[in-house]
This record gives sequence, C-alpha cells and structure tokens, in this order.
Amino acid sequence: MQAKIITYIEHGEEKMLDEIVKKVEAQIQGRFQFEESIEYENSKKVLEVFKKHNVSEAHLQGTTGYGYGDLGRDTIEEMFADIFKAEDALVRSQFISGTHTISCALFGILRPGDTVLSINGKPYDTLDETLGIRENPSSLKSFGVKYEQIELLNNQFDIEKIVNRVAQNNIKLIMIQRSRGYSYRNAFHISEIEEVIKNIRSVNRDVIIFVDNCYGEFTEIKEPIEVGADVAVGSLIKNIGGAIAQTGGYVVGRKDLIALISDRYSAPGLGKEGGASFEHNRRIMQGLFMAPHIVCEAKKIGIFTSKLLEEYGFETEPKFDAIRSDIVQMIKFKDENKLIKFCQGIQRFSPIDSHVVPMPWDMPGYDSQIIMAAGAFTSGSSIELSCDGPLREPYVAYLQGGITYSYGKMAVIEALKNIL
Ligand SMILES: *Cc1c(COP(=O)(O)O)cnc(C)c1O
Repeated sequence: MQAKIITYIEHGEEKMLDEIVKKVEAQIQGRFQFEESIEYENSKKVLEVFKKHNVSEAHLQGTTGYGYGDLGRDTIEEMFADIFKAEDALVRSQFISGTHTISCALFGILRPGDTVLSINGKPYDTLDETLGIRENPSSLKSFGVKYEQIELLNNQFDIEKIVNRVAQNNIKLIMIQRSRGYSYRNAFHISEIEEVIKNIRSVNRDVIIFVDNCYGEFTEIKEPIEVGADVAVGSLIKNIGGAIAQTGGYVVGRKDLIALISDRYSAPGLGKEGGASFEHNRRIMQGLFMAPHIVCEAKKIGIFTSKLLEEYGFETEPKFDAIRSDIVQMIKFKDENKLIKFCQGIQRFSPIDSHVVPMPWDMPGYDSQIIMAAGAFTSGSSIELSCDGPLREPYVAYLQGGITYSYGKMAVIEALKNIL
C-alpha cells in the first residue's frame, strides 16, 4: 500500500491517480445502481405525498408575525407525517439546529423524576449539556431528569442488557441514535432498530422510543416510526432539507407527544398554531422534493471516498460495498496532520470560502478541538460537502454531503493529493 503513495510522489504525475480513480469508479458502479434504486423508491414516496396534498402555488407562500393560519407550513407538517408514517409532525424554521430540535423534544416529553436511557452508549457530543452528562444549570439533569446509558457490544445493541433494564419498568424514554455521530461505528440499519424495538416491546409496552434520525433520512426505504419508534427527530440542513431548506428541524411521531413538544417549542397552550414561516415554505417543499436524489449523491460520494482511500492504504468505514443507513463516510487517518490536511483540501475545493484555511478549534458543545471544512451556501449545512473530525485518537475524518457526485469526487481527489 505504501508503495503506491511513494510512486505518486516520486513521479509527481496525476496520471497515476487518474488510473486508480478510473479503476475505483468501475468497481463501484453496482453500488451506485443499488443506491439509485433506493432513490427511486423514496422519490415515489415524496411525489405521492405532493399529489395527495394537491400542493399548489398558495402552499409556497409564507406568513409573518404570529404566523397563524399558515397553509404552507401546516401542509408541510402533514406531508412530513405522511412520509414518516407518523400521526403528526412539527416542522419549523424556528428550530436553529438538530441539537435544538432534539433538546426541545426531550424537554417537551420529560418531567422531573423521569429516567432517560441511551442504548447506544453516549449520544452525540452536542447533547452532553442537554442531558447533563456535562454539567449545565439548564440541563435536564438540573430539572431532576435522570440519565443512564448502555454501551454497545461489538458495535451492536446489547439486547440482553437492554431488555433486562427496561423490564424494570422505570425508564420513561429510550434514546437511539441512528447515525454514528463522532463514534467509530456504523449507522444502525432500520432492520437493527426494528429488532431492538421488538425486544424492548416484548417486556415493556409503555417506554417512549425516541430516535435521533439526523443524517438517516432517505438512506433506506423505511424510517424509524415504521418500525415502532414513537418519535423521530432531525435537522433540515441535513438530508431531508435537500440542500435547499435554509434552516430548521422536524419532529415526527405520536400525536400526544407532538402536542407536548409543540407546547415546549412555543408556549403551553400555543402548540403548533403560531410560528411565521417567512419565505421558508417554498424552500422546505423544494428541498423535500430534491432530498431523495441529494441523499443518493451524498452516498455515492461516500462510496467513492471509501474505495479510493482504501486503495491508498487508509482504513475506511463504511466499506464501499456496505449497506448505508446514514450519509457519513469515515476515514481513519491515525495521524493528526493527515486529518488536518485532508479537511483543508476539501475546503479548497468548496464553492464558498475556498480561500479559507480551516484550523482546529474549540467548538461550543464539543469536548475536544474540532477541525471543520465546510464551504456551503447555507452556513453549517452538512448535506452540502463537509468534512470534520475531533482532534483525538484515532484522528478520524467524517465526510458527508456534497449535493452532486462530480463536485464531491473532485474535492475528495484534491484532498487526497493534499496528504500524499
Ligand atoms: C448533526 C447531528 C445532530 C445535531 O447536530 P446540529 O449540528 O445541532 O444540527 C445530532 N445527532 C446526530 C447524530 C447528528 O448527526
């Protein structure tokens, strides 16, 4: 493996890399066809929902002020509920991020004395202060909500431990994070989520099952609610915003839970009635329409990256031929400098801020320094190409998004050159 890298440097020719790229692309065509078949199924689902709701120009308009009687916004919520096979939905541009949406949903559902159980070890870093894993005077913990977690067993749900714990019937809510976050594991397939929910339900019918669905939408044909989750949450500047929605988050699930969450989103008694949509309805609608395709492009970029970097001797997850349940591609660099250089290479081949050099930085909500490459039309959007990683062993880069395969391929080739 080392030989290839040396050959490249000594001859200084792009030809060598070009040949490897061609070979890699020939090997991944079958995978691309598979991803396109998922795109087709999800596109069918989306278009049917547009037709069912007779979406017209009037739905694309927005409201201001209190935002009462917002036809477009209310229809978007019905459409999201249909797509996720949920009873109800709250889809709002007032949610500033995925973290905000998840936090609002948890605060909406939980009450003092309740216990939350995460069954995939520690959740996403930015939730530490929501849960009180890291002290914060505004955390759920500070309101008397207890938190427990069960570690994964060989990167799988530890079903036996989970079943034993939930059988005690004093857990209010179970958290499942579908995507990998900043842990070196693969996303859970919908079939794995289905299996663990079945096991949980065999001993406990009441516990609320909550799925952090960030990065998961439209990667497979089914979504968490269809396999028994009570509520699922995500960001509109990831998959389901289709790189067109400019901000926001969504919650889908049981009607009673959406009601609780809506009163936390607004104020007790106000529920879903208010919340101006400004110019967002058009973009959320169009983003939803594009999302199955954009998610497919993101997965193709991941597949290409996985195979190409593997050719150059790097460990990658998921492997190019694995089934994907999120849009994230991990590359284990085992080297701080390579991680930084790779991210900087991605930045240089982004449409926005290509002249900026990202450096490792302390980010609010994260406990180690992070390097983040992102040159997106929507600030912080990670359905657009982005690459980031915490500056800690084993120096893993998390690459996601990309809008189109060609732009993603280009950036990844250049980022690779930057470390060779
Ligand atoms: C992105 C993400 C979140 C929320 O992150 P924000 O940056 O606040 O939108 C939560 N969980 C997972 C798994 C994520 O990928």
